[in-house]
Amino acid sequence: NMDEFAFGSSTESSAFGPTHNPWDLDRVPGGSSGGSAAAVAAGLTCVALGSDTGGSIRQPASFCGIVGVKPTYGMVSRYGVVAFGSSLDQVGPFARSVEDAAAVMDAICGHDELDCTSQQVKADFRAACKQDVAGMRVGIVKEFMEADGLTEEVRERTLEAAAKLEAAGAELVEVELPHVDAAISAYYVLGPCEAFSNLARFDSVRYGLCDEGHKDLGGQYESSRAKGFGPEAKRRIMLGSYLLSSGVYEKYYYPAQQVRTLITQDYTSAYQKCDVILAPASPRTAFKFGEISDPATMYLSDVFTISLNIAGNGGMSMPCGLGRETGLPIGVQLMSPQFKDENMFRVAMALEKEYGTAPVAPEFSDGKAGE
Ligand code: GLN
Repeated sequence: NMDEFAFGSSTESSAFGPTHNPWDLDRVPGGSSGGSAAAVAAGLTCVALGSDTGGSIRQPASFCGIVGVKPTYGMVSRYGVVAFGSSLDQVGPFARSVEDAAAVMDAICGHDELDCTSQQVKADFRAACKQDVAGMRVGIVKEFMEADGLTEEVRERTLEAAAKLEAAGAELVEVELPHVDAAISAYYVLGPCEAFSNLARFDSVRYGLCDEGHKDLGGQYESSRAKGFGPEAKRRIMLGSYLLSSGVYEKYYYPAQQVRTLITQDYTSAYQKCDVILAPASPRTAFKFGEISDPATMYLSDVFTISLNIAGNGGMSMPCGLGRETGLPIGVQLMSPQFKDENMFRVAMALEKEYGTAPVAPEFSDGKAGE
């Protein structure tokens, strides 16, 4: 299960109804790939795949207390995936251990002639898991640690993870991403524009629901699209169609592309000072169903994940214990320069030595999950 067309952060916009968080059934598992994350956290499967356009692997991984990897753009083929934002989408694994995630990465990464954005990559993730972190430089992003809305318990666990890496021989350095506060605004221009264009193919003829019995094709398009898309998909389609209309395009789409360049440059300069960045994955732990009803507030839940899709770099979320206040799983995010995703697996292994592999959520740990 997932949010419809991968639009969302909670699975509440799934066409089939929401998925529940195995750690607390009153709470969301995160999204959009919430079904995959919940299945792994409940022990129904040891690995699953998700897609990440703005955080949809890393945020549910953090809410469900498991490992979730968003590889560098171009590392994994998207062939067969329904496109959302073609310049942002990437597929990656969920797992309860870093080595399981590495085994999936070794299997899925590399060139596929059916996805022209996929690259020939030389990577050995399982080998990277055997290297230690001594001498690695781990960047802490000033703007992220000072961000509004970052809860104290997430901040605390993030800094604790950084301290554990330092104790394991890594060097901590402060880095800056001065344009990162514009990431969400840029994403909610670029994402809907690309989604609007990609979803045009759901025309009831080749793809999507077909509401038959209309005298003319226009009527069939109109009623099929009105019935076939849920409210969040419609919101994004309307937003994208508005943003790409003449006169508006120049005002929003161009500046968003300029912001994209600035954010990419920010990451490039930050990676001159460090090999991996460590950050929170989500500002808070899993929220309750219905707790966030306003779309604009929901969009803010990806504040630490979105900039990385904009830059096309690699990122992953790793469990780093439970929150002192909520008692719910917290994920720490590791980020890597483009095609240096093995770096974050080295760091993730060092953290896993401290925290252990992710447990199956307590209520499901009797082995009866799924019965
Ligand atoms: N939550 C973000 C959104 O709603 C990201 C979704 C994703 O990565 N697929 O667009």
